Parts: sequence; structure tokens; C-alpha cells
Amino acid sequence: MEKIKIGLPRALLYHKYHIFWEDFLNRLGFEVIVSPETNKEILKKGVSLAIDESCLSLKIYLGHIDWLLSRVDYVFIPRIVSLEKKEALCTKFMALGDIARNTFKKEIKTIEYTIDIIEKQWEIFGILKAFSKFEKNPFKIILAYRAAKKLERETEEVKIQKQFTQIKEADNEKPTVLILSHPYTTYDALLGKPIVEFLKKQELSLIYADIVPKKEAMELSKNISRDLYWTYNKELLGAIEYYKDKIDGIVFLMVFPCGPDALVVNLCQHKIKNVPITVITLDELEGDAGLKTRLESFADILKIKKIQDGKRK
Ligand code: SF4
Repeated sequence: MEKIKIGLPRALLYHKYHIFWEDFLNRLGFEVIVSPETNKEILKKGVSLAIDESCLSLKIYLGHIDWLLSRVDYVFIPRIVSLEKKEALCTKFMALGDIARNTFKKEIKTIEYTIDIIEKQWEIFGILKAFSKFEKNPFKIILAYRAAKKLERETEEVKIQKQFTQIKEADNEKPTVLILSHPYTTYDALLGKPIVEFLKKQELSLIYADIVPKKEAMELSKNISRDLYWTYNKELLGAIEYYKDKIDGIVFLMVFPCGPDALVVNLCQHKIKNVPITVITLDELEGDAGLKTRLESFADILKIKKIQDGKRK
């Protein structure tokens, strides 16, 4: 029997949860199709489909869905409202399914489920409901869920250990820079990846804010703000606190327009005094000559500071 094809748009929370999502769907016997790395066609399509006010990451997400539509039976779009009590997520993550259905109308069939811890809608309940029409045995769904979660935890742990080793073995002459951005910005082929590659060529050691022990980071975020309630932004602030003694500078990558990140940039600029920080706002306009000059200058500043601090010859 031919397998049901489920599409995962390689955008937004795919970059955070793909290990879990792919493993879970594979275990239940689906064929998982992931859209390719973001390219100019996908971006252009997403821009044409989205309303102007959408953030660039959402535009890219719609471009990825468009790529998948003719290739899959369903598009997988979890709806994440809250992951902790008294916290929330950017409204885009609550509305993705509605936005996709409104944009693509009858062309799209989705698999959706809600995670809303505030309303006691745990992920496993949503998953059981969403997948019961494909798998009649709930124990199989629960086993697939548990196994995929275990793989996700183990993968996360390996990434964290690898980053710790890199920090330990880093060449002390090279300034260490924290890439402060959401995974869907950092790892997107058109957004963060070219910047990361460029920074690597500037004799810098890079570490990533999304690779951090999450519980500790969430706790540490309170040193910078006790009021911030966007979970993923708290993780970013927590990463600064967690790594602050190990970094020489911060590159904050954000897309335009993003309310939560704009607020966090402001917080960082007011509260973080002893680590130089540069903010790069990415939009859909082409041309990166000015951007490269800014990054080169920032790298030079960090190197000079290291010499002045007596940590570099
Ligand atoms: S946090 Fe910002 S970049 Fe992320 S989805 Fe929301 S508006 Fe877009």
C-alpha cells in the first residue's frame, strides 16, 4: 500500500522540532517530505502569498508550503499557544494553521494539533486526537511519541556537549561570538546561514544561543527581565546570561518586522553593558555589501578589544 505523504515546511519551528516531528511521523509509517532549503523562488512565492505586514519568516514559511502542496497529501502544522504556565508564544505560532488554510483554501489539507499548557492541552492529547484517524491503536501513537521525544532529548544533549567542547578547546586568540537568533533565522539558507558562513571567515569562534540547557537558560533569563513572557525570547535572553563569561560579542539576527525581537533588542541594549552587540535586521530586499562591511567592522572591534584586554597578540 502506498504510504501517506506528509509535508514538513522547512521553516519556522521545523528548525527547532524537526528531529521529533520526522522521527514520530516515520515511526507511524508515513512518508515524510521536507521542502528544500529556502531559495529565491520559495522566498518570492512566500512574499507574493503573505500580507505585507507578515514577518519575513512567515513569508518564507508560506513559500515552503506552496512548494509542498503538489507533492504531499497533508501538511503538518502544529499550533503552539503556550509551553509554560504564565508564558506565551508569538501569535504567529498560534495562527499558522488558520493562515495556511486561508491562504491556500481548498488546495491544502493539514494535520494540526494544539499545545496549550495554560489550558491544559498537553501535546500528547493533541497528537492522539490528530492521528487517531490514521492509527486506530493509541498505544502505537504513544510509543512513537515517546521514542521520538527520547531521540529529540538525546540529540539536543549531543549538540550541547559539542558546543561545550568547542568552547573549551577554542583558540583564545579568536574572539567568541554568540549568534543570538531563533533557529529558523540562524539555520535558514537565505537568512542566517550566509551570515554565519561570513562570520566564520572573520577569524571568530561562533557559538549558538539555541544550543543551551533550556531549563537553566529560562531561569537565568530573569536576571535580564522578569516580565518577558514570550518563551522563545526568554530562551534567547537566558543564553546570553548562560554564556556571558565565555563570549566577546553578540550578533543578534532578527527578521523584519518582529515585535517580540524588537523588544528584546531594546532590553539587550539597555541591560547588557560589558559585551559588544550588533543587531542585524534581515528583510526581503537583496544586496548584502553594506551588511558585510558592518560585520567586518564588528569583527575588527572585537579583535582590537581582545588585544587591549591583553588576551590577543
Ligand atoms: S517571533 Fe518574530 S520572527 Fe518569529 S514568528 Fe513571531 S514575528 Fe515572526
